[in-house]
Amino acid sequence: MGGYDDVSTFAHESGHSMHSYFSNKYQPYINSDYSIFVAEVASTLNENLLSHYALKNITRNNQEKLFLLGSKLEGFRTTLFRQTLFAEFELKIHEIVEAKGSLSDEQLSKLYLQLLKIYYGHDQGICQIDDIYGIEWARIPHFYYDFYVFKYSTSLVASTAIAKAMREETQKGGTSVRDAYIKFLSSGSSKYPIELLKGVGVDMTTSKPFNAAIEEMNSIMDQIEKMIASTPQ
Ligand SMILES: [Zn+2]
Repeated sequence: MGGYDDVSTFAHESGHSMHSYFSNKYQPYINSDYSIFVAEVASTLNENLLSHYALKNITRNNQEKLFLLGSKLEGFRTTLFRQTLFAEFELKIHEIVEAKGSLSDEQLSKLYLQLLKIYYGHDQGICQIDDIYGIEWARIPHFYYDFYVFKYSTSLVASTAIAKAMREETQKGGTSVRDAYIKFLSSGSSKYPIELLKGVGVDMTTSKPFNAAIEEMNSIMDQIEKMIASTPQ
């Protein structure tokens, strides 16, 4: 439809297409399917490049810039922050079952509410979390499938680090990150995902890529605050 969300979705899905295309082209059938750990790297990397491009070249005024920054921030909240909360909730409920415990709806709601309060800073007075939100787990379809939501966070962390390095290098006219990235897209599951990402300069066994993602999230907030402060009310 030509709106920003439509273009962004197109960029996201094109990332998956590029990943599948290159891996199918360069890998034998047995290795052509990439693992879930890296599945959302190409898609979120494209979203990152698109939003940086749009912020620099397309936005005409502060309103449009604020819209883009706001949707970026919301992307970080729902993909990195919220999916980590989900993953922690899943881990805890699996641990209860593994310890031969059983799960009830009251217990799930209590556990979920506790996590919500920690993540949103309820006790610190940052966000008020009403008790009713404890039932939110019941409407998250992912909890009824496999244990996999963590990959949204890990993929976004990895892609944010790769996109940052790529943008910085491209400005100086270099192509080594881009070349390594295309090699990564062409690798399917020929190596373990951690090794594949190391090939593009991202070591997921350290906290460096995570810190880079949080830095980007903070910089978005700083830009929003600066813009709002300078806008006449
Ligand atoms: Zn996707």
